[in-house]
Amino acid sequence: MIRFFDTTLRDGEQTPGVSLKPEQKLEIAAKLASVGIDVIEAGSAAASEGERSAIRRISEAGLSSEICTYVRALPGDIDLAADFGADSVHLVIPVSDLHIAKKMRKTREQVAEMAFSAVTYAKERGLIVELSGEDASRADQVFLRELFTEGVRCGADRLCFCDTVGILTPEKTAEFIPPLAAIAPLSIHCHDDLGMALGNTLAALKSGATCAHATVNGIGERAGNTPYEELVMALEVLYGYKTRIRKEEIYHLATLVSRLTGIPLPVNKAIVGEMAFTHESGIHAHGVMREPATYESVQPETIGRKRRIVLGKHSGSASVEAALEEMHYSTDENQLREIVKRVKKLGDEGKRVSDTDLMAIADAVLAIECKPFIRMRQFTAVSGSSMIPTASVTLVVNGQEITGAATGDGPVDAAMQVLRKSIADVADIRLEEYHVDAISGGTDALVEVTVRLSKDGKIITSRGARTDIIMASVEAMIAGMNRLLREEHEDRGKNPR
Ligand code: MN
Repeated sequence: MIRFFDTTLRDGEQTPGVSLKPEQKLEIAAKLASVGIDVIEAGSAAASEGERSAIRRISEAGLSSEICTYVRALPGDIDLAADFGADSVHLVIPVSDLHIAKKMRKTREQVAEMAFSAVTYAKERGLIVELSGEDASRADQVFLRELFTEGVRCGADRLCFCDTVGILTPEKTAEFIPPLAAIAPLSIHCHDDLGMALGNTLAALKSGATCAHATVNGIGERAGNTPYEELVMALEVLYGYKTRIRKEEIYHLATLVSRLTGIPLPVNKAIVGEMAFTHESGIHAHGVMREPATYESVQPETIGRKRRIVLGKHSGSASVEAALEEMHYSTDENQLREIVKRVKKLGDEGKRVSDTDLMAIADAVLAIECKPFIRMRQFTAVSGSSMIPTASVTLVVNGQEITGAATGDGPVDAAMQVLRKSIADVADIRLEEYHVDAISGGTDALVEVTVRLSKDGKIITSRGARTDIIMASVEAMIAGMNRLLREEHEDRGKNPR
């Protein structure tokens, strides 16, 4: 059985600029345990008071996973690991001559001696020991084999091969791993400096390693570690291997880690990137609407996501027609052709085509008169160094005047709050997503705000474009709310022109 050793909270947290508070680490650890991760490396006990507090809280949380902590071959580190409640230690020892001579300024014999006495001591303190060779890919493999063999004789339960600077290839991995995996259960720890982490990890598992070190979203030192979500899905989809991971939680975990670490998910990232299940091109969109397998190797639902078809210059009439049907428009052939033409024109101008854009186009082509449900009389937002950002608004909602005020984390947030609050009696509209694009670089640039709003499960995207970010946000919100509040089942279309 392949085991998953997650190092998001240790190597992942070593991503430059990332620092998690103990309660945030606990939240991530609890989620890792619930998705079925075998070992959680919770941090490095010697690093700081905050790290120790996080390790204690995670160890005491009663999670189903083994809780591990990173230690150097020093009795003090091992004491901290044991005292703060860890089940196991990831005991890291440099094994390449480069690291031994330049970093440690020691000899192979001295380093080996440190490793053996640390293993012996960690076992005395009742810890499970994973003896890990740092920079193993550049080590003399004969030396490494001897060190691992003696380490196991001293009591090490498991071993780990670290490709610390990401220089393995699948071929080299297949050569290095088998003799080491024959000594004791072996983990593989890869880095993605050359984009090879996943490939090398898979090669190691194929060559006898039984445990993979990985991080959520592949975060970690420099270019990061093996992304666990890609590893799980590659094993399942490409190798037909059934993991014990609860795959439907993968996306939720990815967004949780991204939010708490502040590292955004690259839009085109495999499995968890925004665009991984989004289709725009006409041929592709048409294909997946008929049969998802035509342009998808993974079903988005498997990992807790949804497929998205977006409209733009690559859209074909099938996607536009499907989007219109969803909005209860019915069109004849000529009307559809004209709508597709206008959608492509908007796309050619470099615009994302939102739902409200499509509805505005459809209304124009079908000559539908639409009285806005909500109109704005006045809007004010204020913000400053010694006040809570506040927004006030007067709306005319279905002929009735409503005035309200709200505070927020910033003026935009206050504006969104007051709009939502003011129409709360009429409809419960939620802001699901908020996205800003600046069209050019300056502070006077045109700002485009896209919002995703939902009401009773119906989701709509809407856009506002102004040089004022607050007004662009308000414009997007009001346009979206108006569309959501339009009679949902009114039949639109095939009207006399
Ligand atoms: Mn590492």
